[in-house]
Amino acid sequence: MFYKDQENCDYNQNNIDFIKKSSTIVGSLIEKEYNRQKNNIELIASENYCSEAVLAACGSCLSWKYAEGYPSDRKSGNRGRYYGGTEFVDEIEEYACELWRLVFDTDYHVNVQPHSGSQANFAALNAVLKPGDTVLSMNLDNGGHLTHGNAANFSGKTFNFVFYDVDDKGFIDMEDVREKALKYKPQLILAGASAYSRIIDFKAFGQIAKEVGAYFMVDMAHIAGLVAGGVHPSPFNYADIITSTTHKTLRGPRGGIIFCRPELAKKIDSAIFPFAQGGPLEHIIAAKAICAEEAMKDEFKEYVAQVVKNCKVFADEFTKMGYKVVTGGTDNHVFLLDLKDFSFSGRDLQERCDENGITLNKNCVPGEKRSPMQTSGVRVGTAPMTTRGYKEEDFIEVAHKIDKIIQELEVEKKEEQ
Ligand SMILES: *Cc1c(COP(=O)(O)O)cnc(C)c1O
Repeated sequence: MFYKDQENCDYNQNNIDFIKKSSTIVGSLIEKEYNRQKNNIELIASENYCSEAVLAACGSCLSWKYAEGYPSDRKSGNRGRYYGGTEFVDEIEEYACELWRLVFDTDYHVNVQPHSGSQANFAALNAVLKPGDTVLSMNLDNGGHLTHGNAANFSGKTFNFVFYDVDDKGFIDMEDVREKALKYKPQLILAGASAYSRIIDFKAFGQIAKEVGAYFMVDMAHIAGLVAGGVHPSPFNYADIITSTTHKTLRGPRGGIIFCRPELAKKIDSAIFPFAQGGPLEHIIAAKAICAEEAMKDEFKEYVAQVVKNCKVFADEFTKMGYKVVTGGTDNHVFLLDLKDFSFSGRDLQERCDENGITLNKNCVPGEKRSPMQTSGVRVGTAPMTTRGYKEEDFIEVAHKIDKIIQELEVEKKEEQ
């Protein structure tokens, strides 16, 4: 049940009314945010709206239950049984793990405890690498993520990251990946992105990793929902480790998840607990189980198929109006508008869109000349509005709204200069 279905019972509003009874300040601010979310056109590619059942699990009594360790150890009382009373959260966690293997039709080991996508990457990289080891990945400017080797992040501070490039159209350059893999002999090759609109060739990456004897890790934080729904090729059976968030296209609670080949299970599990985290968030794990149930429904498959259809039409409409879409289009839920030819920055457009009830984010584009705080592009995605029922014609309308905002902004900026 999403916003569009909430005429009779509004879980969010009920919650807000409840909170207001004990804190008017917090309750009123959440209410303002709720109204902003309902009224705005939400185009942030990493966001989505989860179901009321997922939300209710997040707010449930599991929130305060401590259960350090893993269900099998907690049950047997051997290793890691630090707390009593875990019998029901053990069942929930085991059920969650079982379901997630079904979602991706895999016999990989799964760990549902990461608190977020970044925590999942922190654990995964530390599970198989030593400080100073070399990792080949995509940098932030080309669409990667902070945890893929950014200098300010743990990843860049701990490991020796080298980066493959995109070609001049913005596509991942597999020849460059192979050349750099042969040149730098990385211990791990990382594929996956936060702002990349094309299919990633996991098979080709896997072959290169094999050729140079590197681990192959996929971070599918953005596209996991598309993989689950069968509209993006799956990294399973190619990657040794797969990390993800559960709150982006998967439309679940905010959190992370790790899959790995069974032989890496011990390394991954101990990298989450006790290395990276303490007690797992059992309320979020319950919500992850509900998210997995939802992701296996036909309705979800239809949803992700519509997300991709909407995105293609949305990108094409910008192209028809003469805009530059990075890579010329999209295969997934996201694309970047390259605004280098305009006088304003990505940040200017983000702010102007905010004033007009459209939420999106500034983003670096390939060949970026502005700073990451300014940028020359914006990133848009179709996952949240598709959840709210948007179809192709609705996105065409949004494209024209953004075009109008851009044209007005350009006139103003030119006059200022
Ligand atoms: C969003 C994202 C993450 C991090 O997720 P958080 O839950 O925000 O920590 C990691 N990797 C990629 C590619 C992402 O897009």
